[in-house]
Amino acid sequence: MPESIEQFHARVLAAQGTAGGRFPLPEDGYTTWASFPFDGELTVKPIGPLAAEERPREGDDPADCHCAPGATPSPDWPVRWRDALWQINQAPPSGSPLILILEPREHGDLGDLSRERAAEYGVLSVLIAQGMESLPSVGRCQIGRYGDGGAHAHVWFIARPARMPEVRGTFNILWDDLLPPTPRDVLRENADAVLGHVFAAYGGDLLDG
Ligand SMILES: [Zn+2]
Repeated sequence: MPESIEQFHARVLAAQGTAGGRFPLPEDGYTTWASFPFDGELTVKPIGPLAAEERPREGDDPADCHCAPGATPSPDWPVRWRDALWQINQAPPSGSPLILILEPREHGDLGDLSRERAAEYGVLSVLIAQGMESLPSVGRCQIGRYGDGGAHAHVWFIARPARMPEVRGTFNILWDDLLPPTPRDVLRENADAVLGHVFAAYGGDLLDG
């Protein structure tokens, strides 16, 4: 039988106790990578007690989700493309050249997608990646599904700046909070180029946001 979270957590706490109450930083691990954003003396936060339950998420109750009829759309996350089944939102200014969010228009989490929706998700993901990786400032389109904040399925497409060794790889999402916010007019031009590619290959409607 697969390990329970109680067993997992107990194993972690036992190892933490053996380590003196805090895990050490890995000597030859990611803290030595060129992309690790932080310098100087660092310590690892201790792992605390197991929570009684998973923290509630926005949209656990579909009536409270941003997709509910009558919900006010967030001006910070404008919808820039949509068809009858999917939409792409543009994230607010951050350190990345562009962040787009792909989500189904019908309420549900990633695991609720039908096979048809899952196939469309795959096609749209590839088109967004192609569009982002064609931007002159972008080295890679990084893709993330976390789902810990919102229950409505949403996938992050994060443009990783090109030719900057510090932001390459896992820590780009941390650099996104550290680099200066990309100006809105630059974001818009980048988004227009990516979504123009999606529109040309897939159809749907481009929106001003
Ligand atoms: Zn929803």
